[in-house]
Amino acid sequence: MSPPVFRFAPGPNGRLHLGHAYSALLNQGLADAAGGRLLLRLEDIDTSRCTPEFEAGIFEDLRWLGLRWEEPVRRQSDHFPVYEDALLRLRSEGLVYPAFMSRGEMRAHIVEQEAAGKNWPRDPDGVPLYPGLDKALPARKREALIAGGRPFAWRLDMAAAVARIGRPLAWAELSADLSASESVEAGPELWGDVILARRDTPTSYHLSVVVDDALQDITHVVRGQDLFAATAVHRVLQELLSLPAPAYHHHRLILGPDGRKLSKSLGDTGIAALRGNGATRDDIGRMTGLDPV
Ligand code: GLU
Repeated sequence: MSPPVFRFAPGPNGRLHLGHAYSALLNQGLADAAGGRLLLRLEDIDTSRCTPEFEAGIFEDLRWLGLRWEEPVRRQSDHFPVYEDALLRLRSEGLVYPAFMSRGEMRAHIVEQEAAGKNWPRDPDGVPLYPGLDKALPARKREALIAGGRPFAWRLDMAAAVARIGRPLAWAELSADLSASESVEAGPELWGDVILARRDTPTSYHLSVVVDDALQDITHVVRGQDLFAATAVHRVLQELLSLPAPAYHHHRLILGPDGRKLSKSLGDTGIAALRGNGATRDDIGRMTGLDPV
């Protein structure tokens, strides 16, 4: 049997903080314990926010933490055509549509609906669902809008996708030591018509993560609890694109002193800042509640 494959997949749009360190070291520990491999993937599809400096900083922080990963590192921005192919496949099956509503138009539509007493649905992250009015646009109208330079995003027609799959989806959620597995029923409808690509970014997090997890033969996705609900979207895309589903473990999040999720702008929990203030690798392990590494 081939060894299990884990991955750590940061976005180089900021420096790493304690939460990233926890996730990276957890992946390393689990890969080592299972005699598995660890891959590093740079999720840099947002080329306007990802920089070579942040990337170099990530390598520096991870090396200092003692992470060992295989080369070459996959950089998503080097592979846009691969994600475009996946999108094209979904487009050719009529599961994706160009969505023209701007953020302002969306907001106005939702305000209007709520004023009329309708409770507008929100996704698991609290974002209002896309109204999807342009799903009904005739093809000729769509083409004219695109040819006229109207900005748009490619959105998955979630209802059509769920109907195409035709059966409930689930994923295997593993316990912290990966020894036990529980089947979690996916609720992709909760997300509505998610964005799969934009005019200026030819893919999205959801699309590229499922394509890459499959291309890199990832068997175990170990990532933060904040991505638990998004796994439902990933399962849908895996089914539609005939990709294998890895097993998942969503780990606890490291929270800041205010009890909130850490953000890349929280300088004092940044690995580089902690290191600069004299923290050792063991201190980082302790601060994240990891067993000594
Ligand atoms: N790039 C994502 C992040 O930094 C992680 C994606 C994943 O692990 O699936 O939050």
